[in-house]
Amino acid sequence: MQATTKLLHSIPVDAQTGAIAVPIYQTSTFVQEAPGVNKGFDYSRTNNPTRQELEKIVAKIEGGTVAAAFASGLAAIDAVIKLLESGDEIVAVDDIYGGAYRLFEKVYKKFGITVTYVDTTDLGAINRAITSKTRLIWIESPTNPTLKVSDIEAIAAIADRYKILLAVDNTFASPVLQQPLLHGADIVVHSATKYIGGHSDVIAGLVITRNEDLGRQIKFYQNACGAVLGPFDSFLLIRGLETLHLRIAQHCRNAAIIAQYLEKHPQVDKVFYPGLASHPNHAVAKKQQKDFGGVVSFSLRQDTEAAATKFVTNTQLFHLAESLGGVKSLVSHPASMTHKSIETEKRRAAGVSDSLIRLSVGLEDAQDLIDDIENALRKVGSEQLAESRKKSNIFSNSLPLPAHCSLLPANC
Ligand SMILES: *Cc1c(COP(=O)(O)O)cnc(C)c1O
Repeated sequence: MQATTKLLHSIPVDAQTGAIAVPIYQTSTFVQEAPGVNKGFDYSRTNNPTRQELEKIVAKIEGGTVAAAFASGLAAIDAVIKLLESGDEIVAVDDIYGGAYRLFEKVYKKFGITVTYVDTTDLGAINRAITSKTRLIWIESPTNPTLKVSDIEAIAAIADRYKILLAVDNTFASPVLQQPLLHGADIVVHSATKYIGGHSDVIAGLVITRNEDLGRQIKFYQNACGAVLGPFDSFLLIRGLETLHLRIAQHCRNAAIIAQYLEKHPQVDKVFYPGLASHPNHAVAKKQQKDFGGVVSFSLRQDTEAAATKFVTNTQLFHLAESLGGVKSLVSHPASMTHKSIETEKRRAAGVSDSLIRLSVGLEDAQDLIDDIENALRKVGSEQLAESRKKSNIFSNSLPLPAHCSLLPANC
């Protein structure tokens, strides 16, 4: 049976009523026949039938055995870091999601957990960063917003050698394109807010593992710390999962067309998309991903924040917003939005130039999206033209010249 058929039919018909959709058990508690005698549920923080169904499906599509659903992607990351103890170290990808960076630096640092950030596309850099205190390697692949791809299998081998854990934030790829557990990762994390939810209507996170002991610990922290996903949000994720394969296929198709279009555009400088042969990690992406995803970033030849702002405020179909992975296309400007808090030089060194623009390519018709981009680039271009005209005509047009100058050459 094909994966899609298996997925759709692993979502059960409700035994009690025959409901084909998973019922939303919007209840906090469950009646017991006698103390401790119940039907498998006692309190919804600990376990809820709708959430349990979601967790079963997610474990399966990631190639894991245990999954835990959280109130956000960050709550999911938080649960993984709680596996560590004071004095432990993490080696993490350098262009890590900003929220994870904040969690590590502003929360866990004060509890004695420290993080070394390295370019995880460079295996030597990972090896050099590992010390006797390192307990966890944390990667995202592809990353945000420059879509760097790290070799999961090779990094899992390093983690094995040092007997430390490898966690992969699989948000950008989704389980349809990449199953890190099958490449040797110990833990997978998702911001299900993005592709898994897929409709920009829920904040949610997931942790998946195939290691029973790690699974037990994650489940313990889920209940003990309490950042659980509610029944209705769990239902939304199940609904999202039912069309994930289809949506991802279309996101990838549209993104590939747009990346190729941008690469040929005279106003565009660099295009970041793992599906392009020009992408530095194209070979690794090809090896470990089924396709290349729905996010495309690019920079402008006119590498200024003003030019990027002109672009992102002139698209009609690409809405200016944080987040990604929804059915409607979104555009963002990392330098002034998600990466604003990073020092300018550090940000530029990480490849996030002043004009870098990130597209979350949605499910609209590809040609309509290209027309939209073309129009917005034309606006950037005409501005550029007007700017240069203003400069060259500075004496004849824009400044009132003193009378004696009018007969002198233009460089008066
Ligand atoms: C959005 C995101 C997160 C955080 O998830 P939330 O659901 O917003 O808490 C973590 N990692 C990546 C790669 C993300 O894009």
